[in-house]
Amino acid sequence: MVTLEAISADITTLSVDAIVNAANPLMLGGGGVDGAIHAAAGPGLMAECERVPETEPGVRCPTGEARITGGYLLPARWVIHTVGPVWNDDLAAECDAALRAAYRACVHLASARHLRSLAFPAISTGAYGFPMERAAHIAVITVRQLVQSSISIERVVFCCFRPRDLALYQHLLRASR
Ligand code: ADP
Repeated sequence: MVTLEAISADITTLSVDAIVNAANPLMLGGGGVDGAIHAAAGPGLMAECERVPETEPGVRCPTGEARITGGYLLPARWVIHTVGPVWNDDLAAECDAALRAAYRACVHLASARHLRSLAFPAISTGAYGFPMERAAHIAVITVRQLVQSSISIERVVFCCFRPRDLALYQHLLRASR
């Protein structure tokens, strides 16, 4: 039985096997949750990210994919870096699919590494502009479905940075049971 829960917290404080980073394709830090994770993890994280091979110039992690590194000074042992889509009103279906792919890539990577607990931020809902409610719905439905077939994952935390996002996630979690 997998536990899915929503909490209001700074993801860098969570003691889980892996926290997910809403990274950008270059994987060299940025603002928002990415900046917070790099600041808390220390320079070892940046050094490992620099060693992740580029798939094309300027891209270490294409949109919808994920890469794993150590957690360094974080309480979490691992960081799973994923890149969500930049929201575009004219390409809503493509954005939805890319966000689903990002969550899927993280769950697959966590399962492949036999991780038991995983915490997600609300990928793409900050600088990338994805509408919060729409993104949270995709997150909850996609993750709930995928973890059912994972042999390792026991606990998933949806980490809400803004307290107002917590009620939304809690509602979606109840409604999707
Ligand atoms: P993106 O570029 O994917 O939109 P952002 O980091 O700008 O990523 O925002 C993604 C989400 O992460 C937003 O909902 C934002 O409120 C949240 N966030 C920002 N800092 C933290 C943090 N320290 N812990 C958890 N969530 C955070």
